[in-house]
Amino acid sequence: MTKKHPRLLISSLTMSLLAVSSFLPVFANTSGLSRAVATSDHMQPAIPRAAQDKVATKKLAQLKNRKGKRPNILWLVVDDLGFGDIGGAFGGGAHIGAATPNIDRLASKGLSLTSTYSQPTCTPTRSAMMTGRLPMRTGLIRPILAGDTLTNNPWASEDSVAKILSNVGYHTVLTGKWHTGELKGMRPHQVGFDEFQGYYASQKELTQQFDYRRYPDLVLDEEKLARFKKVSGKIDMYYGAKGKKEKVVDKTTGLDQFAEADHILADFTMNKISTLAKGDKPFFIAHNFMRVHADNHPSKEFKGKSASKYPYKDNVVEVDALIGRIVQAVEKAGIADNTFIFITSDNGPQRDAWPDAGYTPFRGGKGTSFEGGIRVPGIAYWPGMIAPRTSAELFDLMDLFNTTVNIAGATNNIPSDRYIDGIDQSSFLLTDNGQSKREQVYVWLNTNFMAVRVREYKIHMKTMQLHNSFQNIDYASISDFGLSPWVFNLFVDPKEELPVGHRMNPWVASLGAEAKAHAATFKKFPPKNIGLGF
Ligand code: CA
Repeated sequence: MTKKHPRLLISSLTMSLLAVSSFLPVFANTSGLSRAVATSDHMQPAIPRAAQDKVATKKLAQLKNRKGKRPNILWLVVDDLGFGDIGGAFGGGAHIGAATPNIDRLASKGLSLTSTYSQPTCTPTRSAMMTGRLPMRTGLIRPILAGDTLTNNPWASEDSVAKILSNVGYHTVLTGKWHTGELKGMRPHQVGFDEFQGYYASQKELTQQFDYRRYPDLVLDEEKLARFKKVSGKIDMYYGAKGKKEKVVDKTTGLDQFAEADHILADFTMNKISTLAKGDKPFFIAHNFMRVHADNHPSKEFKGKSASKYPYKDNVVEVDALIGRIVQAVEKAGIADNTFIFITSDNGPQRDAWPDAGYTPFRGGKGTSFEGGIRVPGIAYWPGMIAPRTSAELFDLMDLFNTTVNIAGATNNIPSDRYIDGIDQSSFLLTDNGQSKREQVYVWLNTNFMAVRVREYKIHMKTMQLHNSFQNIDYASISDFGLSPWVFNLFVDPKEELPVGHRMNPWVASLGAEAKAHAATFKKFPPKNIGLGF
């Protein structure tokens, strides 16, 4: 891995982005629909909410005076959990065979965000949350798979949220799945985290070489298996600390052994919480579950524990229980009122793996630009600081970057030499009846600029054909639209079934202008190519 900054200027790509948007019915670079205001050329424009910003700033200052230190921050990220898998405002839970009483309790005592957006797949979402930047800007445009080689280290020119928080005195920990690079210089403890315990890849990548029922052609063929092991990367659980050599703490040896991994990881996080609560430093812990990504293998304790008895559902019940235990550790340490907790999923359900997959009420699933791919559960929980309620206003998981940095008092440390797509939403979360500052959500799939949502309207600049409704990744294609881009009103058509195009939508030109303005940001801040598929 070289140290040079991967500053490859993909001018032809930028041109094609602009060319795509030029086909849209656009007459100006400003939109009549947007309330967002740009405050600088490298920050995503936001809806001004001066009054609530003032309230939130005061609330955080008063808390710091009371507690004597900055708030702790805990992200709980489930892998591939569907919007409709959990109860409360999200509509799932017990009546679809997997009760989630712990998550539901946090939702009812916290803020349920029913318009939370991720990227369509794992690596893009996780890197976007860590950097506040779209995958197209960091180069992490799709999941890194076994055998992938990268031409550049994307982290060499990125500042992770952990790095920024470490620099202002936080102890930072990543537990569980990383999946944003395992080569030297790309590991969590090398990009800002003080400590890391977990895995570099997704669940399936770790256990496929042991799973003969699903992969007999690999597992039962010695010659192929030997070749596979040479390219399959790191499959064990590692521990790493900043500046130190990493070590294997739990070797991956089989399905039953691996099934216990999330328990080990939860124990690690719970121990960290109780130890760090006693120290002088505030902490930031990103706890990323290995579950419920396919292939799901329930642990001994949870096998058959869901009403449905399916492995996926047992694992939903398990994740729910582990979230309950982790939050209980926060409560037991007496720091719940000084800890901001956010629970979410990194993308929609992987319907390709059905029935080893979650549920979404929306169209499509993981890997698509439809709501099913990118609309995920979002719950903000902070007793005494965040009022219990539900909001359907827009929240992008990239906003967690800016929000976390602001809660940590480090907003001035956000780099200004690159475009930041996240928005500080702390006043949305922290004020009673706070409103979102996000006006637009941009949907990218690899290098394709697919869609923009503004308020309840969504315009697809490229269309996606799902040739089989359950094979959203393996049997789908992308094509251009006909005479009109596809436009949906998500309030009256949440499943994106009937595009209204120019007929029933007065805002088509404005939506086109939104797309064009976004594409133009790549002209001044060109995309980064790290060899993942340009
Ligand atoms: Ca995922």
